[in-house]
Parts: sequence; C-alpha cells; structure tokens
Amino acid sequence: MASTNIYACESMTKTDTIKLRNRHIGKSCQLFYRSDPLKIIRGEGQYMFDEEGTRYLDCINNVAHVGHCHPKVVEAARAQIGLISTNNRFLHDELVKCAQKLTSKMPGDLSVCFFVNSGSEANDLALRLARYYTKQKDVITLDHAYHGHLTSVMEISPYKFNKPGGDPKPDFVHVASCPDTYRGRYNVKNCPDQDLCKLYTTEVDEIIKNIKSNGKGVAAFIAESLQSCGGQIIPPAGYFDSIYRSVREAGGVTIADEVQVGFGRVGTHYFAFETQHVIPDIVTVAKPMGNGHPVGAVVTTPKIAERFATSGVAYFNTYGGNPVSCAIANAVMDVIDEEKLQENALIVGQYLLENSLQLMKEFEMVGDVRGTGLFVGIELVKSKECRQAATAEANAIVDRMKNVHHILISSDGPDDNVLKLKPPMVFNIENAKEFLTAIRECLGQYQSTEKKSISA
Ligand code: PMP
Repeated sequence: MASTNIYACESMTKTDTIKLRNRHIGKSCQLFYRSDPLKIIRGEGQYMFDEEGTRYLDCINNVAHVGHCHPKVVEAARAQIGLISTNNRFLHDELVKCAQKLTSKMPGDLSVCFFVNSGSEANDLALRLARYYTKQKDVITLDHAYHGHLTSVMEISPYKFNKPGGDPKPDFVHVASCPDTYRGRYNVKNCPDQDLCKLYTTEVDEIIKNIKSNGKGVAAFIAESLQSCGGQIIPPAGYFDSIYRSVREAGGVTIADEVQVGFGRVGTHYFAFETQHVIPDIVTVAKPMGNGHPVGAVVTTPKIAERFATSGVAYFNTYGGNPVSCAIANAVMDVIDEEKLQENALIVGQYLLENSLQLMKEFEMVGDVRGTGLFVGIELVKSKECRQAATAEANAIVDRMKNVHHILISSDGPDDNVLKLKPPMVFNIENAKEFLTAIRECLGQYQSTEKKSISA
C-alpha cells in the first residue's frame, strides 16, 4: 500500500516538499522563486538539476565557487569526516594549513586568522576586534550595504534596516552614501573618479567631525569591496584609498567585507579590495571559502589580534576552524590555483561584460551595465532618460530566464531592478553565450510588448 506519510522522505513529490516547507519553514526565510519553487536534487560544476533531470545553468551561485560537487572538494570532505570531524580547541594540521594558505593570499601584514562559520559571524567578530583595538564603538557604514543577519551586523546593514518597519538604526552607526556611479548621490555627469572620490571622502570627513563633536571616536569603517545586495556596485577608482586615509587619521580601523567577492572572482586579483590598491586592517571572508560548506574567517594584523588577546578575550567558537571545514577550504584554494579559475574569471568576465555592454545599445530598458570578472550587474530602467527602476520587468525576466531558458539569475539592489550574475568560477565562454542569447530574448519580449502596447 502506498504510504500517505509525507514525512517518509525517500521520494517525496514536489507537492509534498512544498507542503512540508509551508508547514515547517518560516515564511520569511528567503527561498528563490517562492511561489513556483525549484526543487534541486544535485549539482555538477556550473549546473544544477531538478527532480525531473532538467539542467539549469547556475548564474546565481557565488557560493559553489569552484563548481558544485567538485571532486577534489568532495574527496577532501569525505576523507576528513572519516577521520575526525571536530577538533574543538585541539591542534589540527588542516586548521594551521588553512590559516597559512589564506594569509599567504593576503597582502601586507594581514597574517592572523580567526575561524568562524559564516559571513555574518565574520563581520560580527571584525567589529569586536575593531572596538577592542580602538576602544571606540562608532561605526561608519555605506548606504545599501549588507553585512549579515546577526543583530550586530544588521545594525550596520542599511540594506535591511531601511525596509519599512525594519530594525531602527542605533546612534553609534553612521551611514555614508553608497559609491554608486549610476544613481549615487554624487551622480555628476562625466565627473572624473578623482573628483567623485573627493566628494565621498568629504562626506565621511563630515561624519567623523560629528562623531568627534559628540565626544566619541571612530571604531571602524566597514564596506563591501564591491556591493552585491546593493546592486552590483563598483566604487570609483581611488575611493577606498581616499576614505581609508581619513578613517585612519581619525584613529579608526578599516574593514573590507569580502564575503561575496573574494577568492579570485574579480579576475585581476585574488581579493576585490586589491583592485583599489589598498590594504585593509581587517578582512572578512566566507561563502566561496567552503564552496557551500559553512566556513568563514577574519584575517587581521598581529597588532590588532594581539590587542584582543591582551584585553583578556578568550575567543571560543565550537565549530569555527573544524577539520572538515578547513580541509574543504584548503581544497577550494588549491582548485582555484590548479585550475586557474581566477584567470578564467578574468577572460570569461571580460567577454561577458563586453557583450552585456552591447545590450545597453540595443535595449532602451538597459540603463547601466557594470562588472569586473565574474561579477556583473545589468540595471533595468523604464527608459534611459528617466532612469526609473524597471522592477516588475526585472522580476519577470528572472522568472522567464528560469522557466524558458533554464538559466538561474537573480535581481537585487534597493529597487530590485539589477540583474545579477555571479556564477561559479568554472563558468565558460559557451555558458556566457548561452546567457547572452537568453537575456536578449527576454529583453526583446519586454521591448516588443512595450512597443505593441504603445501602438495599440
Ligand atoms: N557580507 C556580505 C557582503 C554578504 O553578501 C553576506 C551574505 N549575503 C554576508 C555578509 C552574510 O553572510 P552569511 O549569510 O554567510 O552569514
């Protein structure tokens, strides 16, 4: 007799899976395509497969960095979990190897690691390190930033607390304008990068002055090296150098959030902050580091780490730096080097960007295209002239890309009108062509519908 117990998960139908989801998973938990969800069974490289075996090209996944289920990563996890999966404060070779490998990729004096389990935890710990070091509490963050889901980092994430009814902004958090060169505050036509940087830095200087006039000091300036949730934002050249100078002069610590964009994604460098020729005091990493497995780290200078220790902090984290996580992270970093994935990001990213820029010429609704390596944003607007966000169109295109072309992309940004591409780093030229053909078809759908309705 067929079982009616939907908890017997062996081979659940999609309808049963949705029933269980609706019953047991919080409605506010973000799942892609909530009304018409995809049930993904397995992944391989840059592809994911649903329960019917349909292949989807994954352009969303900035987590499965070296490709889904990379054999070397799977083997590293399998081998280590078969030996011991927790070290909980004992010495382990994978732990120290991981710290050594990760810090060897960092410039300057960034040589000390703390291991955590997620990007949110990494940023939370970065704030603590900065506050112990400076003995100050105030933090300067950027508008539209997202630094994670823990209370401490939600407080410095305007992307979230700007939502109606969102968490109120505490008075020790100061929000500077987002360096968006398309619709940012200092969106002066043809303004050279150097002048833009001056405008943004003057604003930060004003914030610092205000903090000081209230008898307080700056603990940290935190920013994503490239904003992802904020809409694939690439700051103008020289931006961080200019702001870091002001923050350091004021005694503050600089934190680069590389949770989304580290490990070669930008193509030209291993970390995105390096494209701006700066060396932060603290760098946070996660997502790609574990290729889907939860592992992250905070990397800092001996000076900052030492101040934490001499303040009497005994930092303890049950799972941070466990042998399985570190074995996986070591395998990921090896694969990036062995398979030259950073170089791949540069070549394929360049192709993708050049051809996406072409879309701006072809379609009125493509307002801006920006990118570096395998990190590209396509901003959709009602018209180039008005620049009004084409949010509904962006969402419809995301759905059409999935349903018609079996390509997974997402939309984000304050107005949810920026199509985001951040595929696994094994993405190739053929994949880029597949994406470009599909996105042209989707944009054409909207262009022709608009024309039809105008002439009707
Ligand atoms: N920082 C950035 C820039 C992120 O994009 C995210 C996640 N989207 C986080 C921090 C938080 O990471 P996690 O979800 O691993 O806690």
